[in-house]
Amino acid sequence: MEVKDFINEEKNDITLVAVSKTKPIEEIKKKYKEGIINFGENRVNELVEKFNHLPKDINWHMIGHLQTNKVKKIIPFINLIHSVDSLKLINKIENESKRLNKKTNILLQVHIAEEKSKYGFESKEIKDFFSNKLYESYKNINIIGLMGMATFTNNKNQIKNEFNKLKLLFDKIKPISNQKFKILSMGMSGDYKIAIEEGSNMVRIGSLIFGERD
Ligand SMILES: *Cc1c(COP(=O)(O)O)cnc(C)c1O
Repeated sequence: MEVKDFINEEKNDITLVAVSKTKPIEEIKKKYKEGIINFGENRVNELVEKFNHLPKDINWHMIGHLQTNKVKKIIPFINLIHSVDSLKLINKIENESKRLNKKTNILLQVHIAEEKSKYGFESKEIKDFFSNKLYESYKNINIIGLMGMATFTNNKNQIKNEFNKLKLLFDKIKPISNQKFKILSMGMSGDYKIAIEEGSNMVRIGSLIFGERD
C-alpha cells in the first residue's frame, strides 16, 4: 500500500495523519486541496499559528511531547492528542477541557522502543490504568486508543516486534476499556508498512508526503 491509497478515508479504515511540522502554511494548503484533512504537529506554538491561518475544517493532531503549561493553548481546537505520556498531563487536559466544557480526545503514548529518550508509559502502567478503571474518573477526556514509536533502526524484525507488542497490548486493553477505544497510532514514513501489517489503523507520515525536513 502506498501513501496515496489511504488519503481517501471512505475507501479505507486506516487514517492518514500528514505530519506537517516545520513545513510552511502554503504547502499544507496544497495538500489540503488534494484531499488531506488530518495534519499533525509536534510543537504547540507552530500548531496554534497554523490552526489560525488554515481552513477550519482541518483536523489537527498533536503528536509531540506536550508540556502541561501549554495544554490550554490547544484544547479549544485540537482533534486528537497522540502524545499523552503522564498522569500529570492527563489531569491537566481533563481540567482545561472541563473549564471549556468540552471533551478532548487523547491517545496514551506507550514506550515500546529500546531508546531511553523516547517518552511514554510502560505497558504495565497502561494495564494498571485500565484494569483499575482509572479512565472512568475523567469526564472531559475520551481515551480513544494508544500510540507508539518504534526504535529508529534498520532492523525490520525489531520494528515488527515492537509494533506487535503494542498491538497485543491494544487488544488486551480494548475489552476492558470503553466503547470509544479504537485507535492504534503507529507507523511513520520509514516503518508504516510494517506498522499496518502489525495492525495499525492510524499512521503519522511526514517526509514521504512533504519531502525531507531540513
Ligand atoms: C516527525 C514525526 C512523525 C513523522 O515522521 P516522518 O519520518 O517524517 O514520517 C511521526 N510521528 C511523530 C511523533 C513525529 O514526531
